[in-house]
Amino acid sequence: MFLGRGRIRRLLILLWVLPLLVPLLLLHPRARAAARLTTGFQSLEQDTRVFYEPGAEVHAKRCAESLSAAIARVQEYQGQPFRAGFRVYVCASHESFTRCLGEPADSPARGMKLFRDIWVSPLAFNFRGTDTHRQTITHELSHLHMTQQLGLRSFMGTVPTWFAEGLADSVADTGCEIVSHQEAREAFARGRHFVPDAEGRFLFPQSATHYGISWPMLHRQSRMFVEYLHDRAGGSFEDFVVAVGKGEPFDVAIQEHYGDSLNNLWNDFLESLNSGSETPRGQGHLAP
Ligand SMILES: [Zn+2]
Repeated sequence: MFLGRGRIRRLLILLWVLPLLVPLLLLHPRARAAARLTTGFQSLEQDTRVFYEPGAEVHAKRCAESLSAAIARVQEYQGQPFRAGFRVYVCASHESFTRCLGEPADSPARGMKLFRDIWVSPLAFNFRGTDTHRQTITHELSHLHMTQQLGLRSFMGTVPTWFAEGLADSVADTGCEIVSHQEAREAFARGRHFVPDAEGRFLFPQSATHYGISWPMLHRQSRMFVEYLHDRAGGSFEDFVVAVGKGEPFDVAIQEHYGDSLNNLWNDFLESLNSGSETPRGQGHLAP
């Protein structure tokens, strides 16, 4: 491939700057966690994919026991096997979880997908009095699975936030713990809801604040729309998810698999809410 002078100059500048940038980036806890530069974690004897801090061994064993079912569930729902191995980091305290990931100390996150791995907080084992670690692992694995399918394309922001979250919530039976189906319906009726963008954004992904709703509401509403898409596609929903994972532009994949535009599908969904024909799922009773 021919490289022009300008391109060569930019490449040389990048090669010069990169060794300076990498150590700077690695000062951030999240970058260190993504690079697996973790200290104090050791792998579990019974499942070397699971890493735990001292004091988290019991939780780590329970994660290991839940892993096979979670992987099978994600692969079945999303239509493809995982493409690469991963690690599960199990933290001994929520404080350690947020510190390792560079999150605010009061972050309500129970788990997180970070680059090649997933992380689990002890919160997952006692979320509002319920053990949700299976659901948490499954939710994060759904995100990891999509990232693995997209490969480098995941950096392009191909998948809109509402779809990534709604899919993970639907796969894992999450997103229904705080906001009830009825509350979500009422919010839809009042016009307080997300709008299904056709593409994601890598640097500044759409957030709940962007839509003027809470994160639990965004999760609940996204899950409702994704489940509407799931049911409407019948048996071919996995094919649609596979197309998205191949990096097909989201609106193109929608048009190809549904024979209609995202906008029309969204209006049909809103109409199904108005007419009461939408099928409620996830009533806030978490699977055991
Ligand atoms: Zn998520």
